Amino acid sequence: MSTILIIEDEDRIASFVAKGLKAAGFTSHRTASGVEGATLAVHGNFDLVILDVGLPDIDGFEVLERIRGQGVNVPVIMLTARSSVADRVAGLEGGADDYMPKPFSFEELLARIRLRLRSESSASGQGEVTRLSHNGLVLDYLTRKAEVDGEWVDLSAREFTLAETFLRNPGQVLSREQLLSNVWGFDFDPGSNVVDVYVRYLRGKLGKERFETVRGMGYRLV
Ligand code: CA
Repeated sequence: MSTILIIEDEDRIASFVAKGLKAAGFTSHRTASGVEGATLAVHGNFDLVILDVGLPDIDGFEVLERIRGQGVNVPVIMLTARSSVADRVAGLEGGADDYMPKPFSFEELLARIRLRLRSESSASGQGEVTRLSHNGLVLDYLTRKAEVDGEWVDLSAREFTLAETFLRNPGQVLSREQLLSNVWGFDFDPGSNVVDVYVRYLRGKLGKERFETVRGMGYRLV
C-alpha cells in the first residue's frame, strides 16, 4: 500500500484530499508546515508528496528545494493557483513531477497520483492493478472503457470517474454530496443536479438495475 504525504495548510483542502485518498485505499499523513513537511518527505519513507505552494512558514518551492537538495527523488505533485503559470514553471523547474491547479476534483488528482506511482512501480518492476470489477461490470484504467457482460462501452471522463467511485465502494450508499465532491470537486455547487443526470447516463450505458436509488440518501452500486 502506498503512503502519501500531504503538505497543505488549508484544512478544508487537506481533509478533502485525505478523505479521498483513504476511500481510494491509500494511507496519508498531513502537515500544515513546510519545514516539517520537508523533513518528513526526506526521512519519512513516503511514496508520493502532495505539496501546496502557499504555506505559513516556508513556501512550497523552498520545501521542494530542501527535498531535492537532500537527493530525495520521491514524486512530488504541487498544488498551484489556477492561473499561475509562473508557479507552474517554477515548480517543474524546481523538480516537481506534476502540478495540480486549484480548484481541482479529487478524481483529477487521483489520476495524476496513480500515473506517478505507476511510473515509479514500473521503473522498479512491480505490477499494478489496471482493472476494477464488480458483478459483471469491469472498468479498465488503460483504455478508460467499461465492459458489461463481454461488451465494451465508451464512457466520457466524468462517467468513468463516477463509475469508478461506485466500483470502489460496491454496495455502499453514496450521497450526492460525496459523489459531487469526489467526481466534480470541492468547489462545485451542492444544489446542482449533475449527479442525478450522470447516474442516468451510467444507467443507460451500463444497465439500469446496477445503480439503485436510495430514497433521501443517494445511490448504491448493486
Ligand atoms: Ca495554502
